[in-house]
Amino acid sequence: MEKISVVISCYNEEKALPLFYEEMERVRKQDFENIADFEYIFVNDGSKDNTLQIIKDLRKQDEKVRYISFSRNFGKEAAMLAGLENATGDYVTLMDADLQDPPSLLRKMFDIIKTEDYDAVGTRRVTRKGEPPIRSLFARMFYKIINKMSSIEMVDGARDYRLMKRKVVDSIVSLKEYNRYSKGLFSFVGFNTKWLEYENVERVAGETKWSFWKLFRYAIEGITAFSTTPLIMSSLIGILFCLIAFIAIIFIIIKTLIFGDPTSGWPSLACIIVFVSGIQLFSIGIIGQYLSKTYLEVKNRPIYIVKETEKDN
Ligand code: UDP
Ligand code: MG
Repeated sequence: MEKISVVISCYNEEKALPLFYEEMERVRKQDFENIADFEYIFVNDGSKDNTLQIIKDLRKQDEKVRYISFSRNFGKEAAMLAGLENATGDYVTLMDADLQDPPSLLRKMFDIIKTEDYDAVGTRRVTRKGEPPIRSLFARMFYKIINKMSSIEMVDGARDYRLMKRKVVDSIVSLKEYNRYSKGLFSFVGFNTKWLEYENVERVAGETKWSFWKLFRYAIEGITAFSTTPLIMSSLIGILFCLIAFIAIIFIIIKTLIFGDPTSGWPSLACIIVFVSGIQLFSIGIIGQYLSKTYLEVKNRPIYIVKETEKDN
């Protein structure tokens, strides 16, 4: 029988985990009995609560449960990578621990991958119900901007929840970059992906780990990782300003020749200086973003550090 690996990244999910496990097992028994084997890989991303203990207890009662526990919090991207690298299944799915990625969709995804010509089935939320409106607004804006800037297509509302064939997983794992932006990586590796749409589900327990600021930084990450358009834009603005300056110089020379040179224009000069230095700092900031990402890549630090796994016990 074929095996499906379920990778679950967990950070402070003590409340949600038992509910997740119960629902996942229910779906497995109902939809996958005699169809596929399962393995659950819980990645404990440096939780500060009882998450690891709960996972260990699950392991005691269920051989299918495996876990990887990080030495500290490395972020969801690192957790997903660790799970993918350690998954042994013919198919791998990524899920959140809070049941926002309904396990009940899994059978449908599996059937699509088995019967149709797709290598991966992704999910996408068509509504953002239950989310603060300001967050939805910025999310929409982000997708508009990044899709204009990047040749890689980012699907609005796409979740990390997806089922992939082994070769897709292998190709994602082969991308060793340090600044990981999964939505981009999934689309970068290509393959045929079918999108399943579903209504947003609110998390069952616990609370979201994504503050607005964290999401904003993640968005910048996405843009710098998959587009160099901001660099081109700052060059273009530079050229535009040179042109304007050139025209202004000619204008001033002619004006001085005709009308003489009474001292005037200090306030406008001050404005121009502030404006132009603003643009300069902004451009340096953009270059700085890319440089800092390059710096982190070049250091070649591990993306995560494992403290223990189920094999240690
Ligand atoms: N998560 C993680 N490491 C982190 C933050 C989050 O592994 O540093 C996990 C978290 O436990 C959950 C998933 O990523 O399973 C999604 O997080 P969350 O539900 O907080 O995000 P949201 O659904 O609100 O976007
Ligand atoms: Mg969630």
